[in-house]
Amino acid sequence: MRRSLHALTDTERAKLIEAQVAATRPIVSGVVASGAMILALTGMFEVAGVAPDIGWPWWVVALVALTVAGCAAAIWSLDDWRPRLMLTVLSVLLVGIFLSVPMPGVDTVVTGRAGLFHLMPIALLALMARRVSMLAIAASMLLIAAMRIGLHGNPPTGAALYWLTVVVSIGFGLLLGGYRTDFAVSTYRIRQRLREQATTDELTGLRNRAGWNREASEAHEDAIRRGRSASVVFFDIDHFKRVNDTFGHAAGDRVIQQLGQILRERAGQRCLCARLGGEEFVVMLIDEAPEAVEGFVQRVRKEFEDAVRDANVTVSAGVAHRIAAESMGQHMRRADIALYEAKAMGRDRMVVAQA
Ligand code: GH3
Ligand code: MG
Ligand code: MG
Repeated sequence: MRRSLHALTDTERAKLIEAQVAATRPIVSGVVASGAMILALTGMFEVAGVAPDIGWPWWVVALVALTVAGCAAAIWSLDDWRPRLMLTVLSVLLVGIFLSVPMPGVDTVVTGRAGLFHLMPIALLALMARRVSMLAIAASMLLIAAMRIGLHGNPPTGAALYWLTVVVSIGFGLLLGGYRTDFAVSTYRIRQRLREQATTDELTGLRNRAGWNREASEAHEDAIRRGRSASVVFFDIDHFKRVNDTFGHAAGDRVIQQLGQILRERAGQRCLCARLGGEEFVVMLIDEAPEAVEGFVQRVRKEFEDAVRDANVTVSAGVAHRIAAESMGQHMRRADIALYEAKAMGRDRMVVAQA
């Protein structure tokens, strides 16, 4: 397996292979269709007498070309990769045999047409993402080569040079395939990094608003589907402008980071935390009892106040436990209103929205 693939987890690797297979499927079908076309053209050249005849009746060649064209169409439309691989290997064998293995008893120089045939598996090897597919194509090439020698003995150039041609063709195909895989892995990484950057808040390392939007409604819907409870909590630091004004913007940043760190450490696996902007945070807790959620909020508030005791800062929180048939937007709005109430009631407190 490629070294670049080793750096990925099993699921990432499987996903990447799926993506590569999906991307290369039309091209594989195109290569197989080209094989059918090359076969049909050489058949016509033979009939016209402009290419050496290797003994197959023209109508057999025409039938085989049609069959391979049918395989190309099936490869295009089949969803399961196993029959697709079987049809691809079948096409390689058919094109290989009818293009470059002369009928027994026909005395012809094979190498020219064999070289023409090798273009097809090279192109296919460059496109294959699964190891088993690469092995199957390479094995078909070796099989056809063995068949040629078995039927016609060593070619005039000698067996060594002939096998070298076959192995070099396979090698080039694998090399191109490997390069394509490396390219796919690096693009995958870049895409992941960009997505992470776009959804992560730089100051706290939590999700930013985009990250929250991407994941929260999905988590909310999932909780509804599984019949689990969900609670949304808004946190907003009290009189934060004063912190900035008194201690400076950098100290303000550190206070924001403190709350971010406490949320990250306190929030378990079933929590989704985000900094929505400024000194405002949101947390979604799934499958936690209301008392557990409220206990979590009070612990966070206490811990934060202790951590920033020197600056004398407090934080208010608005909590909403999901009520049946409530959308994510409605749920968040209730938590937001609860936060607003906490501020209006004098700050430094938690308000739980009424259901
Ligand atoms: P309230 O108790 O009503 O929430 O009062 P507040 O002062 O916290 O009010 P408000 O939420 O309107 O003010 C937020 C301030 O946070 C305004 C802005 O200067 C400051 N702020 C926003 N983003 C950042 C940041 O990234 N770093 C720092 N240091 N300050 C920020
Ligand atoms: Mg504030
Ligand atoms: Mg605010």
